[in-house]
Amino acid sequence: MKKLTILVDMDDVLEDLLPAWVEYLNCKYGCRVRLSDITGWDMRQFFPQLRYDELYGALFDDALWSRVKPKRGAQEYVRRLIDDGHQVFVVTASHPKTIASKMEKVLFRYFPYLTWDNVIVTSKKQMIQGDVLVDDGPHNLAGGAYHKILMDAPHNQDVDVAAMGAVRAMSWRDVYRFICELSEKGVIYGSY
Ligand SMILES: [Mg+2]
Repeated sequence: MKKLTILVDMDDVLEDLLPAWVEYLNCKYGCRVRLSDITGWDMRQFFPQLRYDELYGALFDDALWSRVKPKRGAQEYVRRLIDDGHQVFVVTASHPKTIASKMEKVLFRYFPYLTWDNVIVTSKKQMIQGDVLVDDGPHNLAGGAYHKILMDAPHNQDVDVAAMGAVRAMSWRDVYRFICELSEKGVIYGSY
C-alpha cells in the first residue's frame, strides 16, 4: 500500500458552501432559488435580481460561514485517510479576506485534526505537487499532474470526466474507495 499525498479542495468538497450560500441569499434578499436550479458556475445567472456586491458580498460575511456545514462523510473519511497513513492537504483558491472566517467557522471547527500546516492557498492548483486532487471544479483538475477526482455538484453535471482523465465521486465514500484503489495498486500519476 502506497502512502499518498492527497490534495482536497474546501468549498463544496470538504463542506457544503453552495447550499449555505443559496439559503443565505434567499433569506437575506427574499429570493426563492433552489439548489437544484444552480446548474453552472456563474451565480449571477441564477440570481439576476441581485447586484454583484450583494451576491458575492455574502462570501465576506461571517454569518454565511457560520451556516456552512461539512459535506456528509467528509469528517469521517478525511480522518480515515490520515489514519491510513496518507498526508492530506486542503488546497483552496479562497479570497484572502475570507480565509480567517473559513478556517475558524468551518475547517478547524469541524475538522479539528487539521491545522494551518495542512492548508495551501492558491489560485493555481496545478502548481501543487500531490498524488491526487479531489475538487468540484474541473478547471482545477485539468492539466494537473495528479490523479483527478471530481466531486459531484449541481454546477458540474455537464463535465465529461472520462475526457479529462478524471473520475466522478458521488460522495466521500466514493472518494475514499478511489483513493484506496490507487493506494493498493501503488499507482503514481503518469506512470501508466
Ligand atoms: Mg470547490
